[in-house]
Amino acid sequence: MEKNVNLSVGEAQARVMRHVPLGSVEDIPLERSLGRVLAEDARANRDLPPRDVSAMDGFAVRSADAACAGAVLTVIEDIRASDRPRSTVVDSQCARIMTGAPLPSGADAVIRVEDTRMLSGERVEILVPVKAGDDVRRRGEAMKTGDVVLEAGTKITPGVVGVLAAVKRTRVSVRRCPRVAVLSSGDELEALDAPFDPERIPESNGHALMAQVRTLGIEPAYLGIARDDPDDLADHLRRGLAHDVLLVSGGSSVGVHDHVRPALEALGVTLHFWCVEMKPGHPVALGTYGEHLVFALPGNPVSSMVCFEQFVGPALRAFMGHARPFRRAVAASLAREIKHRPGRTEFVRVTLRREADGRLIAASTGAQSSGNLCSMAQADALLIVPPQCAGLPSGAAVRVLPLDGAGFDAVSEFMEHTA
Ligand code: AMP
Ligand code: MG
Repeated sequence: MEKNVNLSVGEAQARVMRHVPLGSVEDIPLERSLGRVLAEDARANRDLPPRDVSAMDGFAVRSADAACAGAVLTVIEDIRASDRPRSTVVDSQCARIMTGAPLPSGADAVIRVEDTRMLSGERVEILVPVKAGDDVRRRGEAMKTGDVVLEAGTKITPGVVGVLAAVKRTRVSVRRCPRVAVLSSGDELEALDAPFDPERIPESNGHALMAQVRTLGIEPAYLGIARDDPDDLADHLRRGLAHDVLLVSGGSSVGVHDHVRPALEALGVTLHFWCVEMKPGHPVALGTYGEHLVFALPGNPVSSMVCFEQFVGPALRAFMGHARPFRRAVAASLAREIKHRPGRTEFVRVTLRREADGRLIAASTGAQSSGNLCSMAQADALLIVPPQCAGLPSGAAVRVLPLDGAGFDAVSEFMEHTA
């Protein structure tokens, strides 16, 4: 395999996926499973609802008796959700029924209470014609015994927790989280807790990368700052390689003080690529050390975060068993022209705003220098400029990859349309 060629983003992602090991399976309590990924299918262990039940508070009727407005029926029983009906509904009879209560035999439909009028002597007038099956939830409609209700590889969201509770999983099988170490490198860097020196560069990559790791529910280990010195770097890298995944930022390029790549090779790491045709993020490397992964990320703060988005996040999700480890791109329209020289895939930081017609409008956050971290803090998404593109005019149809925290608005979809 040719390692020192420039890969496209897609080729590099495919190479990452080929080298990601799958985490082993562990059993954890349901209440701690949010954000993890199911390691096995979950099946229904009962029919839900367990019988045909009412979808409304109202009256269980024979549709033949209630097909016309004006029909009058006699109420023979009250059925609550916890009851078993005792009677059979026959000619011009009905039963008062609560939401979720089982239908009495004889009845084949429900009319909601709002569509009836009580008369004297436990009689009820039908105000709206009823058809067979109206407002009845069929046995097994929500789930049937034995059905696969959740597939392995499903991320556990609040809805999934609800389904797992419905199938009585007090514990769930998930894939373990990778142990992730984060290392920064560079003599110019000033640690967050170091004395303030306006001549130095505040170490931000490590903290931003750890936050990106934490969005996946993984608590990373911070290894601090390695100096641009082969021995100090080797010491730090060696500690990092004890983790499933090591992220090291800075020093990954080809400058004379960029020691990361040779230091990794000296430690026995196999490099699978170190250049990807992307902007920001050109000098990014993937290495393996046995089953362990190393990502050497660019030092520029935006570049390291963008590379995390494209390569590291998907790798961590795949390790955890996600069936869908990549962010889904969405369509948007470009607010203002973007210049681009054909060559690399460019990721432009953009904000997203919704037009009245529902279109998403993507607008660049401004200066796109890879050192301008504020642009990353403002961004809702990364706009993809394809490598062959020679610039995008205002109004162009584009695709964007939403970032964490995107997708929220100051007003709701519904409030916008109220006066
Ligand atoms: P390098 O890849 O080491 O040449 O670094 C490229 C640029 O990113 C330089 O301007 C570095 O000062 C900066 N940089 C590297 N690491 C960090 C970091 N951890 N936090 C903030 N900036 C960094
Ligand atoms: Mg450096």
